[in-house]
Amino acid sequence: MIAIKTLEQIEKISYSGKILSKLFQILENRIKPGITTEALNEIAEEYMEKRGIKPAFKGYKGFPAALCVSVNEEVVHGIPSKRALEEGDIVSIDMGAIHKGFFSDAARTYSVGQISTLKQKLIAVTKKSLDIAISNMSEKNKLFDISHSIEEYVGNNGFSVVRDFVGHGIGEKMHEDPQIPNFGVPDTGPQLEIGMVFAIEPMVNMGTSEVEVLGDHWTVVTKDKMPSAHFEDTIAITDKGPVILTR
Ligand code: MG
Repeated sequence: MIAIKTLEQIEKISYSGKILSKLFQILENRIKPGITTEALNEIAEEYMEKRGIKPAFKGYKGFPAALCVSVNEEVVHGIPSKRALEEGDIVSIDMGAIHKGFFSDAARTYSVGQISTLKQKLIAVTKKSLDIAISNMSEKNKLFDISHSIEEYVGNNGFSVVRDFVGHGIGEKMHEDPQIPNFGVPDTGPQLEIGMVFAIEPMVNMGTSEVEVLGDHWTVVTKDKMPSAHFEDTIAITDKGPVILTR
């Protein structure tokens, strides 16, 4: 069952989504060689508290922080630590928030100082694949049109999509139906409808699509240790088209 949200509910999702969007700008300005991933998390926790929104990830299945911070070959779910970012790294930040019982969820990948041309391309392709996916979120589309558009664009650019983790419906819970893979057969799946709200999140690897989970039981890394990028937004399907609630 894919829940249909009212405008009032979408407004609640958007409230924390807009705050996350501003927080990303603050974090982006702080990302430099030398800063620890733990310090980024502290900035985020303070900012959310000041704005009266609750970090959605902290305590979720025991996760210890507001941010997932994943560096280079880390795909998602990296735990903030004393690790300092280094020149040439890429860093993915994923965060969620709760306001009046409704969730928003978003992720961005940033460069640390000067990065290689190939890493620049990885970030650009991942970001663009999310925008292309969002353009396929209308009443005219079926669910896996979104999935297929990501897979196709990423594949055409020589990278691979992670298959073990997916986007999702979002609202009263962080993860609602449906699951939204970053690959799929076009013109299949449920018809999209006004009032559906999805977190779309391409995770794109430079090399193999295969991933594994580290011994901390959280951090997901690429099997070949090549870099990975992650962009995510929470988007509502409205009568005026897709509306991005986390930008
Ligand atoms: Mg998500």
